[in-house]
Amino acid sequence: MLTQRGKLVDRKPLSAWENLYLPGIIKGMFITLSHFFKKKATIKFPEEKRTFSKVFRGVQILNRDEEGRERCTACGLCAVACPAEAITMEGAERQPGEEHLYREEKYAAKYEINMLRCIFCGYCEEACPKDAIYLSQTFAQANYHRKGFIYKKEDLLIPNPKEDPEAYQRAVGERAGGK
Ligand code: SF4
Ligand code: SF4
Repeated sequence: MLTQRGKLVDRKPLSAWENLYLPGIIKGMFITLSHFFKKKATIKFPEEKRTFSKVFRGVQILNRDEEGRERCTACGLCAVACPAEAITMEGAERQPGEEHLYREEKYAAKYEINMLRCIFCGYCEEACPKDAIYLSQTFAQANYHRKGFIYKKEDLLIPNPKEDPEAYQRAVGERAGGK
């Protein structure tokens, strides 16, 4: 024995009554039955959804303006502010004729967030000068593969308010609505 902290267990032989196992079974059934009448700790997700607190910080959303143009200008401030180094991006110059797609002269051609790194601190939202990113009230879905947790720009971008106003409103949620 390495630590000398071991204890000898006194294993008394079972009595005839205990050998019946009935008291143990009845006690176990009683505990099971008592749980039928208690409030359940679980919910039937995804049919049922929990109400999150107003300050809940979930998956990031890349925002558009009221005309449906992407707000992000690929300045990189969110990536610099991110303590988990979860954000990567590549900027590109807006070309003539793309003014209806991108609000600024520069935009994020690639924008990725690694959800396995993200700690949902909200610093990216705080750092953004363009109101281009915010943490929504939905959480990252489970996935069988690590690659599935790298959220790309198409996963993060909010629906276009001009093309799909209902989906846009659902995605906006309460947090961005109060901004
Ligand atoms: S919420 Fe925090 S950890 Fe997650 S991407 Fe934003 S800054 Fe990084
Ligand atoms: S999300 Fe905001 S802070 Fe991040 S690159 Fe885009 S404009 Fe800059």
